[in-house]
Amino acid sequence: MKSAAQSELFRELPSVDELIRVPSIAALASSHGTAALTAAARAVLARVREEVASGLLDGAALRLALDGLGNAVEEHLRRALGHSLRPVINATGVILHTNLGRAPLAESALAHLCETAGQFSNLEFDVEAGERGKRDVHVDRLFRSLLNDGPTSTHVGTAASAVPPEPTLSERSEPKGRSPAEPNCVSTIVVNNNAAAVLLALNTLAEGGEVIVSRGELVEIGGSFRIPDVMAKSGATLREVGTTNRTRVTDYENAITERTRLLLRVHRSNFEITGFTEQASTAEMVALARDRGLPLMEDLGSGALVDLQNFGITGEPSVLDSLRAGVDVVTYSGDKLLGGPQAGLISGRADLVARMRSNSLFRALRVDKLTYAALEATLLAYVKRDHDSIPTLQMMRRTKEEIGKRAETLAAQIRSSKLNIEIIDGESVIGGGAAPSSVLPTCLLALSCDGLSADALAAQLRASDPPIIARVEQGRVLFDLRTVFADQDSMVAAALARIAQ
Ligand SMILES: *Cc1c(COP(=O)(O)O)cnc(C)c1O
Repeated sequence: MKSAAQSELFRELPSVDELIRVPSIAALASSHGTAALTAAARAVLARVREEVASGLLDGAALRLALDGLGNAVEEHLRRALGHSLRPVINATGVILHTNLGRAPLAESALAHLCETAGQFSNLEFDVEAGERGKRDVHVDRLFRSLLNDGPTSTHVGTAASAVPPEPTLSERSEPKGRSPAEPNCVSTIVVNNNAAAVLLALNTLAEGGEVIVSRGELVEIGGSFRIPDVMAKSGATLREVGTTNRTRVTDYENAITERTRLLLRVHRSNFEITGFTEQASTAEMVALARDRGLPLMEDLGSGALVDLQNFGITGEPSVLDSLRAGVDVVTYSGDKLLGGPQAGLISGRADLVARMRSNSLFRALRVDKLTYAALEATLLAYVKRDHDSIPTLQMMRRTKEEIGKRAETLAAQIRSSKLNIEIIDGESVIGGGAAPSSVLPTCLLALSCDGLSADALAAQLRASDPPIIARVEQGRVLFDLRTVFADQDSMVAAALARIAQ
């Protein structure tokens, strides 16, 4: 029920028509169009009406709101007609931050994307033969070169550094038990993300049968990716073996029946089991799979294409490590350690991958030209050994000293008596579920601002344009410049100077 006083207030509100005829507001139609202006005026008036109805506005407050209607309509238009998805500055020190879009793309990937996506392309056209082609060819050739027979190695280097190539898959000694008739060649297909890759692989290799997985690997990865749920959707039955902390190869062996289709290992991602633990080694799993004629699949999650030991990160096997060890099929993400666009990659035995390609699910999970363009350019950077052009790899390689120097330069740019700045030691994390126990030493800018709580300062930084996302810890805002592009340091300094005026 409206009170009499409220009815009075409602009468003071203009109609939508009256509002858009106010000259200063009517003028907005020329740049934004009448339809958008009308919609904005309607939305703003509805909000004021709601505030009156809920008793939030008394007479004086309503008059103030009415005076501000022009600004409110303009602000509404700016938001409605602007992009919602926009760049932010990541000062969290988490390199692969799922909430912040994971891997930023390399310049070459952006250029290739712009060049091919704004025009027609040979996505599925064989230009030479003049007939229909396959969209996979654009990246499969590069994966072959990186994982099979290429001149590249998993060593990290710049294009100029001459590191002798490691033996490639075709050169390595054949694991025992692999029959010579089996294809020795690794092929790769691309789907929408790694969750889709796992779904497609399980459905192709194990629908109607059983998949054996260790209880210690039945993980949930952020964004509700749960191995048991994906397994159920794939039509395969999960056969759990071992215990949370210990699973031996004999546990897998004892669970094999005529219904078994696949042995599966899952990277535990952002979760670790320490203490009294045991896990079957990859070599033991490979030997068991070969012996029983079953495929062995590994969901690597992050899936590095380079040896991360070069970054001081241990215990994170690369895609090539797994394939070399004899794993038949490996699934991994395109936008985690690989540093490319969102994608799910399935690399492995050509005969198994060919079965996945002809599964009708593959058609439903396939990726578009934007993804192929960005992925092709990213893979080319690996082939050319130009690792520093890939932002995620470059961020991992930044030294603490380098980051400390940038922090000092940034701190010197802000002259405000209200800001208290200290440079302290800290740790950056890789994120994206990779190497959960590996951290990278870094230098942090620790800030507090007189008259503002750390949370309020962080909120003001988020309200900057572009928004700046930093960590809040123990009453201070912490900036890790490892994940900030060097040309953004001055933007951070300017935002801080403005906030602490
Ligand atoms: C991240 C991750 C996934 C999910 O990958 P998306 O590309 O996000 O779909 C699956 N498995 C593991 C082990 C992961 O780390």
